[in-house]
Amino acid sequence: MGLTDNIKRALFTRGGVHPPANKLAASVKISDGPNPERVLIPLTQHVGSPCEPLVEKGEKVLVGQKIGDSEAYISAPVHASVSGEVASIAKFTHPSGRDALAVEIISDLEDTPAEGIAPAPDPLGMEPGDIRARVREGGIVGMGGAAFPTHVKLNPPSDKRIELLIVNGAECEPYLSADYRLMVERAQDVLHGARIISRAVGAERIVVAIEQTSPAAISAMRDAAGSGGEEVFTLPAVFPQGAEKTLIKTITGRDVPSGKLPMDVGALVDNVGTCAAVSELFLTGMPLVKRIVTVAGDGVTGRGNLRVKVGTLVRDVIDHCGGLEGGLGQVILGGPMTGLSQYTLDVPVTKATGGIVVLSKESIISEEPGHFTCIRCGRCVRHCPMNLMPYLLGSYSDAGMWEELESVYINDCVECGCCAYICPTKNPLVQLIKVGKEGYSRRKRKMETLKKDKEEKSLEESNA
Ligand code: SF4
Ligand code: SF4
Repeated sequence: MGLTDNIKRALFTRGGVHPPANKLAASVKISDGPNPERVLIPLTQHVGSPCEPLVEKGEKVLVGQKIGDSEAYISAPVHASVSGEVASIAKFTHPSGRDALAVEIISDLEDTPAEGIAPAPDPLGMEPGDIRARVREGGIVGMGGAAFPTHVKLNPPSDKRIELLIVNGAECEPYLSADYRLMVERAQDVLHGARIISRAVGAERIVVAIEQTSPAAISAMRDAAGSGGEEVFTLPAVFPQGAEKTLIKTITGRDVPSGKLPMDVGALVDNVGTCAAVSELFLTGMPLVKRIVTVAGDGVTGRGNLRVKVGTLVRDVIDHCGGLEGGLGQVILGGPMTGLSQYTLDVPVTKATGGIVVLSKESIISEEPGHFTCIRCGRCVRHCPMNLMPYLLGSYSDAGMWEELESVYINDCVECGCCAYICPTKNPLVQLIKVGKEGYSRRKRKMETLKKDKEEKSLEESNA
């Protein structure tokens, strides 16, 4: 007899923290966001190569029209989310904090769809290759925040067998409720998308994973599954339960080894938002031009879960929700644990933006970054879901010891923020880890170049 969900949770859950949930928008139904007069559609909204623009200044565009693409395999095309005219193709502030190329469109407010947008007649009868091609053309990426191109995930190497599809409904970030609302309101769409994905990779089993604190989502997904064979697994409410490797461990007991991917243990993880986007693409033919975004926090007048056109400025979304309340302290895209704090409201919502958290001045504790001070209490080690030693990652990075970072598995860090959250001396561990990852990769590239140069030189010498 297999282990019950309760026993799996007790045996396999490790690390994590319990920040206040603050799911204040969870009871608010999904509604339409603003109808912006201007959108900025970044040509990089995904992991992988940026897109090249396919349109020019002054060109008329329609909703769903492809406006950027790349020949690289790891990439995803981008599409116009409004109909109107291209005003410019230039560098604008990207939510990552860097300047990046974007297509600026002035909307005609007509929302005229592009030609050729049509549903797929029988998605569940399609060949896997055709599903992947359509998913690629639809610009679908992982919508839990990672933004990894979905068509790549649907194309595992022939020696990897995916037997389990995990539909990730663990929305463990405080404040966010977009995935929860999707499951409550559009459970059938989520499952439909999951079935299409499962057909593309040949998965025999679909498990929808939801935190036990979301009973309405659990019952909606169970009702939708009916006798369809999909299972619903209730997860412990601990952050970061939604991280891929953590999820796989909790559900299957399998460890994804360092440097390996879920497919190496026979699993594929896709967010509920990704599944719903896949379903919509096949049911309507419309590429990914909108997404559900939670707007919450004490710094905004209204809160909700809005269907927002990709490229809409954060400022317009906040205005749609009644504007700022009190003195603005911080605006975070994503959740407060893993999201990115913004220095301007003139950044666009991208395919990866699951939340806009607006905090007032009173609710944030601002501290000047101090020196790395570790009292070796071990709390970060106990709470790290990846079984890492965050104090070593932090101290090596602080000291610029890039080489040593490999021995402490820096690339296994999922940047969940648990270590920084729990650290009594308030070490900025995640920032140090991010810096450390950059330093480590730079050093690795340099060493590889030096090695290559040396090999070429010795080859030249032996040929001389
Ligand atoms: S080291 Fe990385 S994975 Fe571990 S708790 Fe810190 S941020 Fe999370
Ligand atoms: S929690 Fe902070 S003080 Fe404690 S061991 Fe980790 S880095 Fe050091």
